[in-house]
Amino acid sequence: MEYILKKIKEFDTIILHGHYRPDGDCIGAQYGLKYLIEASFPQKKVIITGESSDYVGFIGKPTLIEDEHIFDNSLSICLDCATSERLSDTRFTKAKYSIKIDHHIDVEQYGDYQYVDTTAAACCQIITEFYLKFRNELVMTKEAAMALYVGISTDTGRFKFDSVSSKTFQCAAVLLENGIDLSYIDNALSVETLETLKLKGYCLSNFKTTVNGFAYIVMKREIIDQFGVSDEEAAAQVSTISTIEGCPVWAIFMDYPNEIRIRLRSRGPVINGLAEEYRGGGHSKAAGAKLLNWEELEGFLIKADLLVKEYKESL
Ligand code: AMP
Repeated sequence: MEYILKKIKEFDTIILHGHYRPDGDCIGAQYGLKYLIEASFPQKKVIITGESSDYVGFIGKPTLIEDEHIFDNSLSICLDCATSERLSDTRFTKAKYSIKIDHHIDVEQYGDYQYVDTTAAACCQIITEFYLKFRNELVMTKEAAMALYVGISTDTGRFKFDSVSSKTFQCAAVLLENGIDLSYIDNALSVETLETLKLKGYCLSNFKTTVNGFAYIVMKREIIDQFGVSDEEAAAQVSTISTIEGCPVWAIFMDYPNEIRIRLRSRGPVINGLAEEYRGGGHSKAAGAKLLNWEELEGFLIKADLLVKEYKESL
């Protein structure tokens, strides 16, 4: 962390990168760090590049940098992204110096320097710990605190995943002390459009389960179009089937224009091994993978069902 602060001090322009299809932790870490650096070193220019997210659009909406020359004398910091190919703007390679800050399993050590803490519940927790370590030098603002709190809160399923530690709560407490409005945040994260609510009803009526208890939603393109929701809103429906008794593993199969993405979740067995078998990875209880075509679905269902069966037999 000392080295990262040293590098931040060295550069006048700092570019913050995130992963594609960013979530609350990714956008929160980008904006949290941006506001922290800007409040602490007002002469520095901090730019956020990459994709935006409607879900956490109230924090801020990044755009993709067009003028590549800006990278020439910049420090790039890549946040919440395990592999360089998942970055929505991969041009950190053009920056004078680059740093990766992440909390996922360190499968690829990209960039000139890496800070990876897999025990942190969120990348935003790491940024908050960074602030705490140098709080004599760094300035926290209400905006930074809100962005970081949103990241920690969303990546822990509102403080209920196994990844939550006492450190997570210590960080949240510090952010609260900086004047964040909890009911505003909860409202912004909880309100759903009528279309999304109707899609939720569809998912509740149409999800399927395998013999041993793997629950899943097949989200075909025509359904997304029929309900008039965004891909992000459709993909979020994975949580709709998270509480079914006897189904400790569940997933949504998302029909994206160029790929079929699996969002896989568990409240029992470790699932990232299964995700890795299907071109993906992630955490033990939240992972992602890809199907090459719908014909692959059946094979995946058999493996997921077996995973649940073995888990239940082991209890
Ligand atoms: P998601 O379903 O997008 O929320 O992803 C859940 C977790 O799995 C996140 O921590 C992601 O970083 C990880 N993940 C998702 N897709 C992939 C992938 N294709 N390869 C590796 N990790 C992934």
